[in-house]
Parts: sequence; C-alpha cells; structure tokens
Amino acid sequence: MSDVLSSSIQYIKGVGPKLAKVLSKKGIETIEDALYFIPRTYEDRSRITKMGDLSPGVSVTVFGKVISARRIKGRGRQMRFEATLSDSTGSVVLTWFHAYPALVEEFSTGTQFLVFGECRFYHGLPQIAHPEYEKIVDVTLGKPRASLSFGRIVPVYSETEGLHQKVIRKLMGEVLKTSLSELEESLPEELRTRLALPPLRKSFVALHFPEKMPGEGELSQSVQRIIFEEFFILQLGLCLKKAHRKRDKAPILEDNTGQLDKFISSLPFPLTSDQTKVIGEITKDLKSGQMLSRLVQGDVGSGKTVVAFAGSVISKASSFQTALMAPTELLAQQHFRNAEKLLKGTGVRPLLVTHSNSSLKEVRQAVKSGEADLIIGTHALFQKAIEFRQLGLIIVDEQHRFGVDQRQELVRKGERPHLLMMTATPIPRTLAFTLYGDLDLSIIREKPAGRMPIRTSILRERDRHALYSKIREFVNRGEQVYIIYPLVENSEKLELKSATDMYERLKKEIFPEYRLTLVHGRMKGDEKDEVLKEFKEGKFEILVSTTVIEVGIDVPNATLMVIEHPERLGLSQLHQLRGRVGRGSKASECVLVADKFVGERLRVMARTEDGFEIAEEDLRIRGPGEFLGTRQSGLPGFRAGHILRDAELLTRAREEAERILEKDPELTAPENKGIRTMVESRWKEKIERLKGG
Ligand code: ADP
Ligand code: MG
Repeated sequence: MSDVLSSSIQYIKGVGPKLAKVLSKKGIETIEDALYFIPRTYEDRSRITKMGDLSPGVSVTVFGKVISARRIKGRGRQMRFEATLSDSTGSVVLTWFHAYPALVEEFSTGTQFLVFGECRFYHGLPQIAHPEYEKIVDVTLGKPRASLSFGRIVPVYSETEGLHQKVIRKLMGEVLKTSLSELEESLPEELRTRLALPPLRKSFVALHFPEKMPGEGELSQSVQRIIFEEFFILQLGLCLKKAHRKRDKAPILEDNTGQLDKFISSLPFPLTSDQTKVIGEITKDLKSGQMLSRLVQGDVGSGKTVVAFAGSVISKASSFQTALMAPTELLAQQHFRNAEKLLKGTGVRPLLVTHSNSSLKEVRQAVKSGEADLIIGTHALFQKAIEFRQLGLIIVDEQHRFGVDQRQELVRKGERPHLLMMTATPIPRTLAFTLYGDLDLSIIREKPAGRMPIRTSILRERDRHALYSKIREFVNRGEQVYIIYPLVENSEKLELKSATDMYERLKKEIFPEYRLTLVHGRMKGDEKDEVLKEFKEGKFEILVSTTVIEVGIDVPNATLMVIEHPERLGLSQLHQLRGRVGRGSKASECVLVADKFVGERLRVMARTEDGFEIAEEDLRIRGPGEFLGTRQSGLPGFRAGHILRDAELLTRAREEAERILEKDPELTAPENKGIRTMVESRWKEKIERLKGG
C-alpha cells in the first residue's frame, strides 16, 4: 500500500488530534479508511429552487440575501433566532432554537447564503428549521459557485458525534485531493472490461461526490466496483490458501481390501445418496496424498456420524488411527456406543477417552500402541499425555463448538493428519464462501428415508391449557417431552419465565404426577451430562432445560419439544432445538409458545424443516453478525461490502477468483501483480486468523 494511503488521517489538512479521535470512533484511522467511509445516502442539491416555488414537505436548496434577522424570546430563558432570506421571487424564514452569538453575527442583513433543508409552511409562510447553510461571497453571473456541500449531489455520511456533515464533506474533499494520485488500479484490465467496472480513481470520486443521483436502493457502478474488489481480494486470498494447503503432503489413506464396502453393507440401513456422495468425496481426498480439509454440513439427523465412521474404516485399512472429537462427554459416549455397534466386523477398534479415564495407563497405552483405531473423546484427546501411534485422520464433530486453537492442537498430534469437520449448522453459501472459503465443502441435504416429519405449531399464551393437555397426552403414551426456556433465572424486567422457576412450578403445581428433571448452562459439565443420560435412560418423563441441549443428544423416545419465548432465539437455534425430536420412528411435534406477536419469523419454522432454507432466512432477518453470534467469530469485516445485500457480487467475486487462479495459480503474471500486492497487504493477516486454520 502506498505510504500516503496508510498514513494517519491527521496527515490531512485541518485534522488535529481532537478530530482524529472522533473519526477513529468511526473506524477511520488512515487516509485509506476515510476513502472507504461510504456515504449513507446522497442529497440532490444541484438545483436551486426559487423561493416563489417552494412547497411544503420538500427538501430544497435556496439562494438569497438576508433581509432581516431577529432574536425571539423562547421558552424559559432561551432565545430563538430567525432570519428571513429572500430572492427575486419570494422569501423564506430560517429558524434556530438557540440564538448563539456566532450565528447572529453571521446572518447580518445583506449577507448571501445558500441554504438546504426541509421546507414547512406556518401561517402561509415558508420556513426551514435548522438549515444547513453556506455563506456565499463569490457570485458569478448571479449564480453561487458549487462547493462541497452545495450546487451538486452531496454525500450524507452516518452521523458522528460532534461532527457536522459539512466537516466530513470537507475532509473527504481533502482526502480525495491528497490520495487520488496514489491509488493504483489493481484489477486486471480484462476483468474490468468484461464486468464493466469503472476505473479505481473514478470510482472513489463518484462514490463520495457522484455526478448523478443513484436510484433508490441502487448501488452505482462505482460502489459496485469497490465492493467487488473487496470481495474479490478476499476470495483470492482464501483460494490461494486452499491451493497451498493442497500442496501439503499428507498420508495416503486408502482401502484396498474392500473394508469400506463391507462396512456399508453391514449397516442396518441403506445410505442416502448424499451420504454416499460425501463418503465418495472423502475417499477421493484421503487417497490423493494431499491434505483433506473438508467441512461436511448436514442438518441434525442427516446421518453425519456414519460418514465419519466410514472415514475411520479407510484410515484403519491403511494402518492409521482416527481421532473423533465431540464437544461434550455425552456426545462422545453416544458416538462410542454407536461405533461399537456399527463398526463391529470392520476390525476398527473404538476407544473412548474421557476426562475421567484419560489418566489411566491402559487407556494411554492403547492409544500409543495402536491397539485402538478410532479414538473418541472430547478435547481431553489433546492432552499432552495422550500420544497416538500414527494419527492419519481427525474428525471434529459440531466443529463450530471448538475454537481454531483447539482444532490446531489436535492436528499437532499427528504428522500432517487429514482434517474432516462436521457441522449441523448449515451456513448459507455466501457466508460459507467467506468463513470457510479455504475449505472444501460437502453438503448432506437429504434426510434418511422413513424419517417422520416433525409437526410444528405455534401456540398462543391463552392456549396454555391445551399445551398442558398435549404434554399429558404424550407422556401418557409413554413418550418423553422437552420444555425449553431460554433463560436460567427470572428476569423481572423482561417478565420471562425462567427454566429454574418454571421447573419448580411445573413439578409442584402442573405435573405433580410425573417425574421432571432440569438442566441448564450454569450446571457443571458432568452434572449436565448425568441429567441428560438419565433422561435418555427414561428415568424422567419431562426435561426442563435452557438451550444447552442444543447439540447432539439423541433420545429417540422424546417426541415433543415445547419452546417457550421462541422469539428470543434465532431461527437456526430453534431449528437445532427442534432437531432433538423426530429421531425415532414415532411421530414428533414441536410447539412454539409465542406470547405476543407471532411474526413471519416463527411461521418459517412451521413451514419448513430444511435447515438450509431456515439458515438463509435467519441470515436475512438478523444479518451476519447476529446470525453467527458467539458461535463463530472470525468473519472478516468488510469496509464497503455487505454479505447479504451484495450476495450476488460476492458469488461473482468467488467465481472470478477461481477463474483467475486456474490460469495463474500464484498470481505471478504481470497483469495480476496489482491484485497480488493487494491480497498480501490487505488480507494476509486476516486470512491467517480465519477459522479452519
Ligand atoms: P447427525 O447428522 O445429526 O449427526 P446422526 O449421525 O446422529 O445424525 O444420525 C441420526 C440417526 O439416523 C442415527 O440414529 C443414525 O443411526 C440414523 N441414520 C443415519 N443414516 C441413516 C440412513 N441412511 N438411514 C436410516 N437411518 C440413518
Ligand atoms: Mg451428530
């Protein structure tokens, strides 16, 4: 990056430490930051309206001379100020609620002003309250000269405390003057022509001071160019990273003995075609000699576990070990029991490593000697004391629950092991490009055959008695029920029912005849696991819970899910919760108890069970930041682009990045020098920090 662009904003004329501090609150530290400070909107001040033509409710620019000014006593001790401005066709009264001295002095009779504001009529006279104005000294041929704030299309930036639009505009004018010659075209000519993207310098000028008003909700070509470039550079970086990883050698894992086929035919069910497809993709990656880095996205219950086990069969066939890491002990135990069942006859020997047994000598020995082939556990797996004989494949289940560091630590347990990640939180395409753009993606969209649909209904508070009868109906049939409250403790302010309070009430007053239990996030991990285990064993009919049961637990006999205050949760989260039922062969139901307004949002839940569709909707409603929430950070901040609004540009940028790298994998061609420099200076650090490391 040029020195000028990266230098402090204080380098700009008129920006002192005080102003710099205000700007920094808006993320403007350097001159380049300022260039990317995109106007919120624009105002057309290119036309001057004659005062005789004013009409109410319209924002206008007028030009005239002060013919009178006065101070008026307002409420209390306040003094208001009024100045009457006129041109040859009429006059307009300008009003301020505070008559501060500088203002009074400025608006002395005879001075000329350009004024912008919304016109109102009082007693038939046009008025503009608190107008934006500019004193005009220089008038040629009866017309004021255009300035940064008048006589043109004017940018309006998002408000900054203590910063007037006029000041920001002036600053932007200076920024452009200083930096324009420093901006170097980075996009290759061919690309720009093909996509009709205007040149860089022109784009920045048009971004801040356009010649034409952009249409409503429309991005000008210049803005599009700047956004495209931003996306494009990131996508190039991600694709480069992906390509580099593929160059890394990794063990060749392959099944020459037909073990995989044997495993598949031994399963108690036929695989879905999506499962078959993904197993095929993994098989291909594992024997390629290049490192597998793949994220399998599949809705809850889509059958990802079997896919993971298939990986372990291939790994074992090449005499390598596989580690399967789950976010909780309970899930690890569940996987272990499934492994024992499903992998019987394949020769893959599973071993469960928990916090309680990981210190045992025989457990460590089994991992170290290679006596165990599939080592299943929580992050206990990457304790120092656990040494693998030969780790070839790492599978991370519910990967979004782990930090990059935790995954990295496990990867260090082997010599270049393959890394397979699985998630039950589908992520819309554009977001996946951005978050996981350096990984290969596999999608399991299809559900196993014979799955009973989950009937979802929305109940109002006044139908609570009907809800309680429904719960009784399910329990009396011998089935189990989840009741979810988003909060642990009562919050008086919000008048929300909390899990702990409601548990007591339900147990004592509503369902004294049933066995209820409670689980929430303030409980310790093993306490939580114990409760869930007992629920699974059928020791309780009703489990009252906060959202902690979101991930993984499989209780086929639980067929009713009640979610209180569903409006507090994101759609994806509701979908995850709902996925706890419908895991057996019995018909399941989900009831959302909405106490007030039932928005479109909840109706989406009743309409579809497709996690991808719900994720798209969730992203659309809440935006990327909220959508990802605390689950995933690491989303790079875009200065101009917006993942949702500009989804099309993002997809385009991805395609173009892949296309260019196909021809020039290292970006060494002279015409790609510009973008190469950009990738290095702009995204390198951010890409390093991106998830999936
Ligand atoms: P998830 O993708 O949520 O991890 P699981 O792997 O736990 O899903 O699978 C959910 C249930 O579906 C398990 O009981 C599993 O044995 C079963 N299952 C997986 N694949 C199939 C299939 N192709 N046909 C029928 N049942 C399947
Ligand atoms: Mg799972």
